[in-house]
Amino acid sequence: MNIKYLPENPYLLLTPGPLSTSKAVKASMLRDWCTWDEDYNSIVQQARSELLTISNLDAKRYTTVLMQGSGTFSVESVIGSVMPESGKLLVLANGAYGQRIAEIARYLKIQCELYDAGDLERHQLEKVNSILAGDSSISHVAVVHCETTTGMLNDIEAIGEVVKKNRRTFIVDAMSSFGGIPIDVENIGIDFLISSANKCIQGVPGFGFVVGKTSELEKCDGLARSLSLDLFDQWKTMEEGHGKWRFTSPTHVVRAFRQALIELNTEGGIPARFQRYAENQRTLVNGMRKLGFETLLPDEFHSPIITTFLSPNAAGYDFVRFYKELKVRGFVIYPGKVTNYQCFRIGNIGEVRPNDMEALISSVRESMYWKLPG
Ligand SMILES: *Cc1c(COP(=O)(O)O)cnc(C)c1O
Repeated sequence: MNIKYLPENPYLLLTPGPLSTSKAVKASMLRDWCTWDEDYNSIVQQARSELLTISNLDAKRYTTVLMQGSGTFSVESVIGSVMPESGKLLVLANGAYGQRIAEIARYLKIQCELYDAGDLERHQLEKVNSILAGDSSISHVAVVHCETTTGMLNDIEAIGEVVKKNRRTFIVDAMSSFGGIPIDVENIGIDFLISSANKCIQGVPGFGFVVGKTSELEKCDGLARSLSLDLFDQWKTMEEGHGKWRFTSPTHVVRAFRQALIELNTEGGIPARFQRYAENQRTLVNGMRKLGFETLLPDEFHSPIITTFLSPNAAGYDFVRFYKELKVRGFVIYPGKVTNYQCFRIGNIGEVRPNDMEALISSVRESMYWKLPG
């Protein structure tokens, strides 16, 4: 390859995705593909089958569908394609992404009940159980695994147990956790899990994917409320066409995704990536606490993905200036998303290691301009 100019990243993205990706992931996009040629379709099939392998799922009972668009398109595709007309969705929310699932249901005129635990709390299992026991019209339950709004990790094992005991279909938005946190899809009883290319798999943005129970997906023929987001039809086309998409597919993004999956394997799979992320997050939180920052959530609620810190209670503190100070030092962080609290977020997923977190802490120390004399 003869490339004159390969730009370097001027800063690390400490965001929940798109995130900093490896050079090889970016370089893998430097050729063009024909959407219906077998060279490309076989990459799609490899990626689909790899998604089942890393989830320890049997291809006889589980399947995957890739869907164009950002992660929300895949969430909307599931909600709009798996709910029968008479169905009712219970959404367990504790942040903006849970709320978004309920909003999708409202847009699609799907009956929906919302149990909002508040941004700082987990859902009470007895309450979930009594809602389900008291309303037999609820057919599906949806929850977010890692609520990226705060960094809260919801207990999908315990919630799944309640959902299965009550015999409802279980939908999990694992957008910001799949690939970075082990998820036992089969034992938890997840029927549809949703994630996207540009989070813990460490690919680039452009499509999302659904890991689903084949027998559940088979029930969805003709249910979709949208043509382009018809999950069942997309699945049929991919199965029958051996990796074909219905409409233009993000070819370069899929090729990069395949490379990202190879790198996930080389790292040691999801358990090894989970360890790295957990160490990143510990390094981050310990360092920030030493500088006087406090986390919004208690440690026991925390995911190893993204952390919310309370803004310093100091006259003259301004997020935008803090952000810019960090950016010139090579780090991009994220604004807060919780109402009622002044805060900011720092992600630790992507091509990021504990030594990057150490370097970040040094830069944060230098960027605390509100502490400097004068
Ligand atoms: C990123 C994310 C999404 C999808 O967001 P997009 O901007 O559409 O990619 C959905 N749910 C969660 C929990 C997320 O972190």
